[in-house]
Amino acid sequence: MNIGIIGTGYVGLVTGACLSETGNNVICMDIDEVKIENLKQANPLIYEPGLKELIERNTKEGRLHFTTDLSEVVRNSFIIFIAVSTPPNGDGSADISAVLNVARGIGEYLEDYRIIVTKSTVPVGTTEMVRDTIRGATDVEFDVASCPEFLKEGSAVEDFMKPDRVVIGADKASVAGILKEMYSPFVRTSNPVIVVGIRSAELAKYAANAMLATRISFMNEIANLCEIVGADVLDIRVILGSDNRIGRSFLFPGIGYGGSCFPKDVKALVSMGKQMEYDLRICRATDEVNAMQKELFWRKIKGYFRGDLGGKRIGVWGLSFKAKTDDLREAPSLFVIDKLVSSGASVCVHDPVSMENARKVLGNSVEYVQSNYDACINADALVIHTEWNEYRQPDFDKMKKIMKSPVIFDGRNLYNPKRLRDIGFKYFGVGISNVNTQKLMK
Ligand code: NAD
Repeated sequence: MNIGIIGTGYVGLVTGACLSETGNNVICMDIDEVKIENLKQANPLIYEPGLKELIERNTKEGRLHFTTDLSEVVRNSFIIFIAVSTPPNGDGSADISAVLNVARGIGEYLEDYRIIVTKSTVPVGTTEMVRDTIRGATDVEFDVASCPEFLKEGSAVEDFMKPDRVVIGADKASVAGILKEMYSPFVRTSNPVIVVGIRSAELAKYAANAMLATRISFMNEIANLCEIVGADVLDIRVILGSDNRIGRSFLFPGIGYGGSCFPKDVKALVSMGKQMEYDLRICRATDEVNAMQKELFWRKIKGYFRGDLGGKRIGVWGLSFKAKTDDLREAPSLFVIDKLVSSGASVCVHDPVSMENARKVLGNSVEYVQSNYDACINADALVIHTEWNEYRQPDFDKMKKIMKSPVIFDGRNLYNPKRLRDIGFKYFGVGISNVNTQKLMK
């Protein structure tokens, strides 16, 4: 099939690369010329395991192309995916202006029948707006559909290639059939392709993200209560996870969720409800707990130093919002680092892949180091934000020698608290620490 992808970010680029891998002829378009120039050299500007190799292979085989010209995509593609960003507006609602701009452009260039699919996460009714927008610009026949994307940054290629399920929102069986055929190589293990109405597909994406975010906020609340009553959230997690109805995943407390999806999608869902005069109370609470979780982690650090961080040297491990990605959008690390810097601490940061992105955001406000141990040299404390594998079993003896004080604030519960305390560290995790959380929350 000839397929066009508009927007070559995490979703568009992975979608394009994976669809070319199964033999389709794919053309990816973006308004960002630098991105496209780099992609033409098989150089993605984002980090995603396995992606560069896919792009190299399929570009070489002549199945994957890149352009900044929308008309080229519309002319050459039977199915056109819209995968542009839908960032939050000031009031939390989703900004769909990029999606509608693309729709306007498609309408302008349409000469033959095409299927236009929204892949961006969009509020209910947006795909219908895409249809109306294109219809306003042309008399040529076309159809629209919604295929929300469920991939996760850090394992995006793997997720696209082996999805838990594919969701197709379509109001014509013929359109659903074509999209099913396109997705068939990815569901050979019989994972379901679920065909639903367009509105259900759009809402399902928000519902999935909000439920996952709610699990995280729920565990964070339980973790905070553990600290108050002297229970251990690591034990509670095992007990909860062993219940089949609950399941083991997404039960890790931490410093709050970040990234480009959960924060914005929970807020957008709340906003969608508000527009319909329906109060989504659980989603609102999920968002509030998440904001509080970052604040609480910071208050733990501040409390330890009795509010005086002036002149303190703080090492930081991990900047990206989770492991295996370079994405810093809404990363809790940025919140904590901002607090540290504005309290007068000197901050020394390490991340395996996000340093370049961090420089764009943090500039000269922090020191950047090559090795995670360098961030510990002379540090009054180490703060861990991201669960990178390489941080899981460090040389604690070496750390103790090079740190000024062996103090760790671990926002990801990477280590065994007892072991660390036995070898002389002051160790503060989430839901396991001996800090007075009740006092911190006031
Ligand atoms: P992104 O910011 O990484 O990429 C979006 C791309 O769209 C950018 O390269 C931008 O230059 C391009 N763009 C913007 N306006 C354009 C236009 N008018 N024409 C052509 N290109 C344009 O975003 P992303 O993370 O890939 O997310 C895209 C959508 O997919 C969002 O709606 C997001 O919520 C959703 N989504 C994201 C993820 C994720 O993990 N990142 C997962 C599932 C769904």
